[in-house]
Amino acid sequence: MVRQLIDTFGRVHRDLRISVTDRCNFRCTYCMPAEGLEWLPREELLTFEEIERVARLMVERHGVDSIRLTGGEPTVRAKLSTLVGMLADLPVDLSMTTNGVTLRAQAGDLSAAGLKRINISLDSLRADRFAELTLRNDLGRVLDGIDAAIQAGLDPVKVNVVVMRDVNDDEIVDLARFGRDRGVEVRFIEFMPLDADKSWSDGAVVGRDEIVARIAEAFPLEPVDRTSAPATRYRYLDGAGCFGVVASVTRNFCDTCDRIRLTADGQFRNCLFALDEFDLRSLLRSGASDDDVSDLLQGAVAAKWAGHGISSVNFIRPSRSMSQIGG
Ligand code: SAM
Ligand code: SF4
Repeated sequence: MVRQLIDTFGRVHRDLRISVTDRCNFRCTYCMPAEGLEWLPREELLTFEEIERVARLMVERHGVDSIRLTGGEPTVRAKLSTLVGMLADLPVDLSMTTNGVTLRAQAGDLSAAGLKRINISLDSLRADRFAELTLRNDLGRVLDGIDAAIQAGLDPVKVNVVVMRDVNDDEIVDLARFGRDRGVEVRFIEFMPLDADKSWSDGAVVGRDEIVARIAEAFPLEPVDRTSAPATRYRYLDGAGCFGVVASVTRNFCDTCDRIRLTADGQFRNCLFALDEFDLRSLLRSGASDDDVSDLLQGAVAAKWAGHGISSVNFIRPSRSMSQIGG
């Protein structure tokens, strides 16, 4: 019998994000400190077998039906397509979020191993700005990675854009146009206080209404009916597809959130902004039974709070940055 992962507010959790590594070949300014981070020693990372065990248990016992691989940068984990193959045996919607820089080499293998769809991060179409934001001069490779993902049959291919005031907000319409022209759905994400350098402020957030208004001036659009997905979607009236906005700050979706997270070092998190983690790795490595693991998961989800409260005076930032938690 499936025992759903339900918290005290009645929210059922079905969407698992697995960070497969805390390492990254980029250092995006809004995610990682400029000097980089110390990477976890290899033995602290969950092995593929440990990841597969937890994922299987969550799917078979607890009704999880969606798994997204993330990081750090998931494609820097060696033999990633082997893990994808192991997880593809499960009845889940299997996806990945990546910076896209190595997709020309990897997209075919990942797709053949069972990856269904992919989100690729792209915050600027200007080579100089892209290099400033990521500390890598790789705009061309990421654009080529987007093409490689489409050619490999990953569907849908989506593009994630973190919008930051006076950093890249002047490119909102250009990025929307890019999505229309390439046939990929762009998801504009409000900047969240998970940057390692702690430079985030309310003023740096460009909210959903402003993003939508700017795009609507260039391309007439209408809202698409809201589902439980975090992005609010809009359709271009001329038939050139859709775009989405993830309004995690101005219109948080905490009351319908169904996400849970596993960090690369095996800590279970019941919220992106959680201050407490649950040590799954120690449990797994102490010879725990599946029942023991299930008990931890259920207790951890039950302990979830109502919402992140970013705008409240009581808000406390998590000590780990986005690249360590897994976006
Ligand atoms: N390395 C991969 C990538 O960049 O897509 C996966 C990990 S990254 C942490 C996952 C997502 O989190 C990316 O789309 C990234 O743009 C987003 N992200 C990182 N820091 C963020 C922040 N402070 N606010 C909003 N989104 C952020
Ligand atoms: Fe790396 Fe992704 Fe964070 Fe950029 S957003 S530093 S690519 S983990």
